[in-house]
Amino acid sequence: MLPKGYRYIYHYNAGSARLPHPPMLLWVEPTNRCNLRCTMCPNSLSGKSREHGDMSLDTFDAIVSQARGWVDIIYLFLAGESMLHRDLPEMIRRASSAGIRVVLHTNGCLVNEERAAALIDAGLHEISFSFDALDPAEYEQRRAGANYEKTLGNIIRFLEIKKQKNAKRPKVDIQCIDFRAQASRESVREFKSRFKGLPVDAVKVIPAHTWAGTFKDDASLHAAPGGRVYWPCKFPWASMAIAWNGDVVACCNDLFGEVRLGNVNETPLREIWNAKPMQRFREALLAQHFSEYPVCKNCDVPYNHNNARLPVRWARSLPNRALAGTFGLGIELARRAAASIKQAVKK
Ligand code: SF4
Repeated sequence: MLPKGYRYIYHYNAGSARLPHPPMLLWVEPTNRCNLRCTMCPNSLSGKSREHGDMSLDTFDAIVSQARGWVDIIYLFLAGESMLHRDLPEMIRRASSAGIRVVLHTNGCLVNEERAAALIDAGLHEISFSFDALDPAEYEQRRAGANYEKTLGNIIRFLEIKKQKNAKRPKVDIQCIDFRAQASRESVREFKSRFKGLPVDAVKVIPAHTWAGTFKDDASLHAAPGGRVYWPCKFPWASMAIAWNGDVVACCNDLFGEVRLGNVNETPLREIWNAKPMQRFREALLAQHFSEYPVCKNCDVPYNHNNARLPVRWARSLPNRALAGTFGLGIELARRAAASIKQAVKK
């Protein structure tokens, strides 16, 4: 039997639409309400909307009790700012007690002292602050409604509280999107120096992406996808995304619930995972056939070479899918080995 993390790669490469393994990762949306109107966010740009609401603890409990024992990580984030959910620490506590690693993504604006302590005490495993600009003017332009120094102060205070509590977790990442691909070493160094002596695990400066094709008309955008070759995205072979009302949607980019694959309040998660809508969705991604799934049509994820697999045409020409799965898994293992060697050489 293949280790858990490799089973989905095997079946992705084999082109399986029905999967013998359960999902490993869940994106769960505590709320789709937000406190900001960021200029790059589909919530501001797309002109689309979805009914706003908060996930009930009953729905969350149903997800956790079904996910217990087979889901490794719950990411508490989809379309809104999760800190707006008043029961967020309780959600973290419940998922964490069920043995699931809980990761929170937040813009950090609402993480005051009291809430910082509550998140840490609830047993959060990882927090990722989406800070998204090194420069104060750019931050306030991109993150409309937020104040650079105030948010930075919240993050610093969070780290100080973690230090005072001598808490081993959560792991803390601060993520900045380099929209203009111009971040100088000096500006990154200067930004990192703000967290000197504090328990921060990583400050990541990452390239912009297009939020499934919504954010694309900015002349300064350097969100070029990995290439022109289409590699079907792997999301539905390993993960599921669940909106606040229990709808299972395409992925963490499906902010308006345009693809509805089931609802956890009506059908158990494991059943949705292999039901016909999910199987049809996987087939459509493999075949690059998006008429039913417009959210995927303009997405940059399938052009990311991290998705590299045997070209579908070749895989299908092999005598059986097991061979395609094995070849594809071999390619993935070789790719990962090459990446670790490259990383080691860099160090
Ligand atoms: S192609 Fe993009 S929008 Fe579609 S499931 Fe993958 S990540 Fe989501």
